[in-house]
Amino acid sequence: MSGPGEYRPDPTEGITRPEDLPKAKIVRQSRNFKHRPCPYCGKSCYRDKTYTRTLHDVGDLVSGRPRDIQLTYSQHHCCQCRKYFNADVTDLAPPKALYTHRVMALAVRLVVEDGLPYESASWHLWRDQRVFVPWATIQNWVEAGGKKGGPRTGQPLPRLGARRLLRLHRRR
Ligand SMILES: [Zn+2]
Repeated sequence: MSGPGEYRPDPTEGITRPEDLPKAKIVRQSRNFKHRPCPYCGKSCYRDKTYTRTLHDVGDLVSGRPRDIQLTYSQHHCCQCRKYFNADVTDLAPPKALYTHRVMALAVRLVVEDGLPYESASWHLWRDQRVFVPWATIQNWVEAGGKKGGPRTGQPLPRLGARRLLRLHRRR
């Protein structure tokens, strides 16, 4: 008999090898343009190259799988300024980031608003959002955000799940 409040453990609980976790669903997004205005002088500049980068997004909660955005973007060359610049993708993620703004905002909120230790925030993101973020990465985000004294690491973990997850992170 199952009711609305029935406890159902996370199906990934107890998995110790990252390769046994569900595979990420790939979603393609494009910021690939023929021309873009130069950010320095405003001149419309041709595409020089196309690059792809992968961003870890909030997971797919229906399938229970992580979701990766495969982002294609163009690089342009301004012949006037003799500079290269990329098509703007900052609506999705900060420069060089591996995670989307969405994931970063959720992680920081778990720590700053809910007061979770970094390890627990990391576990929550996996269990509830299906996105892997090492706790040290969350710590960097929180500290970079200049938010006043988030919880410190080394606090007791509320569940075993977090420990298992940490082990996975360390092995990666
Ligand atoms: Zn220019």
